Amino acid sequence: MNLYVTDTIAAIATAPGRGGVGVIRVSGKDIAPVIAGLLGREQSALKPRFAHFAHFKAADGSALDEGIALFFPNPASFTGEDVLELQGHGGPVVMNMLLKRCIELGARHAQPGEFTKRAFLNGKLDLAQAEAVADIIDAQSEAAAKSALKSLDGAFSREVHTLVDELITLRMLVEATLDFPEEDIDFLEAADARGKLAGIAAQLETTLATATQGKLLREGMHVVLIGQPNVGKSSLMNALAGEDVAIVTDIAGTTRDTVRELIQLDGVPLHVIDTAGLRDTDDTVEKIGIERTWAAVEKADLALLLLDSREGITEHDRTILSKLPTSLKVLRVFNKIDLTGDTPGEVADDEIHVSAKQGIGLKELRSKLLKQIGWQGINDGVFIARERHLTAIRAAREHLATADAAYLQIEILAEELRLAQNCLNEITGEFTSDDLLGVIFSRFCIGK
Ligand code: GDP
Ligand code: ZN
Repeated sequence: MNLYVTDTIAAIATAPGRGGVGVIRVSGKDIAPVIAGLLGREQSALKPRFAHFAHFKAADGSALDEGIALFFPNPASFTGEDVLELQGHGGPVVMNMLLKRCIELGARHAQPGEFTKRAFLNGKLDLAQAEAVADIIDAQSEAAAKSALKSLDGAFSREVHTLVDELITLRMLVEATLDFPEEDIDFLEAADARGKLAGIAAQLETTLATATQGKLLREGMHVVLIGQPNVGKSSLMNALAGEDVAIVTDIAGTTRDTVRELIQLDGVPLHVIDTAGLRDTDDTVEKIGIERTWAAVEKADLALLLLDSREGITEHDRTILSKLPTSLKVLRVFNKIDLTGDTPGEVADDEIHVSAKQGIGLKELRSKLLKQIGWQGINDGVFIARERHLTAIRAAREHLATADAAYLQIEILAEELRLAQNCLNEITGEFTSDDLLGVIFSRFCIGK
């Protein structure tokens, strides 16, 4: 575990810019100097968790701002340390004056995620819960926010702990036979060790399935619209975005040639990229657009190849298809069926008929999109999860499979069970490298 630092940290916890109220957060082992300097009161004079109206003071005793001061003595605080929260007026100048004053009084600027990291290191949260804090803030849909809150409440961690507890019980059995070889196999058989192993493996599959849904909610899917010019890519993008009741946002910083939209389907964020039409061209600007299209294709989880129903798949489309990465799932969308009279909806597993302009077949397209990305519909049990968690669960699954295959080779069995447990412990952070912690917390915002 890394060296736990207890110096005093401070940050503006509210978002940059103007707001009615701005919050400064201070945490540390000894924050009495900050309290004394800012509030002109002894720490002991502050009632815990009580809203004190106060003037926040500069070094010369003049007031920088006035507002509410809240004191949370350790260990009953977010970080587990002594915490002071100041609610002042939410303007950038005022907030920066107050922060500067805290620094003057011995605090230092908190790093991104440092408050949550301290909460983790102090055992207030496990790692999956700490990650959920960031996931609530970063949530891209209501469903994602709710499932992040589930993880913060420990729904995911409890599943992991149950699995770990059962693994520990099994390991004790197995390791007992290592210590007392005379008891060996018969002993394991009598205890139904193999049945226990199978039970854990089955439960792990359930957790993996739920976590996979949670990852979809958190990260969504990257979908690219490709096809020749004028097949209706932009029209389809607008139709998908426009008909959806959920929020549609333009993501800033987009280029004019590849347009990105965040579309929500059933709470799953879909990052849809409308690409420049793919065709051979000598036009320099168009060439750049086409290069960007291929870059977007590289990152996509799913491609919608748009086709004109009147023409079907042309030689050109076959060329496009042959250039796509083989791992990329492709859904062929035959558009403009209003002009051909084709029946709307699914034709084959990877084919669908629509009219973007007339809004025909879009409902079917939406449910097909969700099916293609593996979304099973929101159920209340979904907790938020990340790729890191899925990787750990899959690795644990591998170790359990090896353990099962090596069942009668007790030393291997014992070792594989130990490794499986380590993988699961990585999720909750009982077994996690400092490097990984650094990566996880550095992605938080400042003040959290
Ligand atoms: P893109 O170049 O692939 O993005 O194609 P656009 O979305 O700009 O559409 C090209 C033209 O096809 C426009 O005039 C659209 O109105 C038309 N279009 C798009 N979808 C349909 C459709 O479903 N039916 C018909 N009749 N026209 C369509
Ligand atoms: Zn277009």
